[in-house]
Amino acid sequence: MKLTADFHTHTPYSHGKGTVLENAVRAKELGLLSVGITDHGFSHRCFPLKHKDLPALIRDCREAEEKTGIRVLVGMESNIRGVSGLCDLTEEDYEHFDLFLAGIHIIIRYEHFSDRKIGWGNWMRKKLHMKPSPSIVRETTRAYINAVEKNPVDILTHLGYQCAVDAAEVAKCCRDRGTYIELNSKKEHLTDEELSAVAATGVRFLIDSDAHTADRVGDTLRVEEQLARVGIPLGQIDNIDGRMPVFRFAEYKKHM
Ligand SMILES: [Zn+2]
Ligand SMILES: [Zn+2]
Repeated sequence: MKLTADFHTHTPYSHGKGTVLENAVRAKELGLLSVGITDHGFSHRCFPLKHKDLPALIRDCREAEEKTGIRVLVGMESNIRGVSGLCDLTEEDYEHFDLFLAGIHIIIRYEHFSDRKIGWGNWMRKKLHMKPSPSIVRETTRAYINAVEKNPVDILTHLGYQCAVDAAEVAKCCRDRGTYIELNSKKEHLTDEELSAVAATGVRFLIDSDAHTADRVGDTLRVEEQLARVGIPLGQIDNIDGRMPVFRFAEYKKHM
């Protein structure tokens, strides 16, 4: 299995250590065709990409692209801010970005006070090894599905990480909308059983490193270990073995 691109990496624009150029150079060394620079969305309370830094981020990506000759995508790992599916990458900023990732994180500005349950509520239950209630699974699943239905999300990051979700239901929505499910090599997220059920929906996958340091760009080890156990068809993964994905956000922007 050979990776063709890594679409989820962080830089000091949020809390990564490798610069845009360092991540791109590492990707080039590995023979990747493209790297996504995807720092945390504006509503992250500790490590947000700042709106005022957008011009510098875009400039860094374009310079890295020129220096390495690989495609360097200006992306965001946006936060799903509530059950409504509201993301912090919104239409007014679409013009600045090439790549739209979305995921659930804890320390963010939620849309409503009650939306803390999909972040903090889930996190607390995991920490205390409590069985998730049917309502929290339902609301978390609804948050993911609404995010995919209401926004042109390219990739759902680390589905189910620190939260309880009906992953197969989310996958059906992703399959129908053309959103990729990420196999994240940094974080344990889907269980083997969940991954098997998700794959059975026919959804398409991408493998990402979620690198916070340049040396981890292109890392696939954790995912390869899980794939060896679960055995899903590699043809369902669109950033390996010469394949490259077709992204929904870029298509959406052509018709704006
Ligand atoms: Zn994340
Ligand atoms: Zn990330």
